[in-house]
Amino acid sequence: MDISVVIPLFNEEESLKELFDWIASTMQSNRFLYEVIFIDDGSTDASWQVIEEISQKTSSVKGIRFQKNFGKSQALHAGFQIATGNVVITMDADLQDDPSEIKNLVSKLNEGWDLVSGWKKTRLDPLNKRLPSKIFNFVLRLVTGVKIHDFNCGLKGYKKAVIKSIEIYGGRHRFIPALAGQKRFKVTEIVVNH
Ligand code: UDP
Ligand code: MG
Repeated sequence: MDISVVIPLFNEEESLKELFDWIASTMQSNRFLYEVIFIDDGSTDASWQVIEEISQKTSSVKGIRFQKNFGKSQALHAGFQIATGNVVITMDADLQDDPSEIKNLVSKLNEGWDLVSGWKKTRLDPLNKRLPSKIFNFVLRLVTGVKIHDFNCGLKGYKKAVIKSIEIYGGRHRFIPALAGQKRFKVTEIVVNH
């Protein structure tokens, strides 16, 4: 397996099908072998039914379903445990992350980096979301010495060793680049589409 795409989701029935088709087409055009791992974090809508439908049509999908909502960190943790790819991509399910960035994350990893974080340099969010995020990132850069702009971006690429050696729970997904930096993994970022 080349690439595992790990997607945590909570009530995302409307976007899953389109997201999967988009990922599948970008993987095919790049000739990547891949699996997509959906982690349904206790959705109360039809997300799980949609995942079942997708998985009936293709063998490249795995699904995990939580009985209740445990949060994004736990969902990522579960996905990381079953991921088999040499490269692992994480992505949000709400179509805010662009699957055609996967090839750019992969090329950056191939340059020798262990973790490549997406940076939504031009963000489409309102200022009341952007400003707290700017402060959060500024403080984290200062405290951790990891010089990236968008710690919390859902779109990231990892070498397998990174995801198998960091422990994510209880909200720690926001600090993944910092945790990886602490373990002396080489962390960088690329600008991605929002
Ligand atoms: N998510 C999840 N569990 C939760 C909340 C969110 O798995 O309890 C998923 C959500 O479906 C999405 C990703 O985590 O795929 C990011 O969530 P959201 O878009 O709410 O975060 P933001 O974009 O505001 O950082
Ligand atoms: Mg979002």
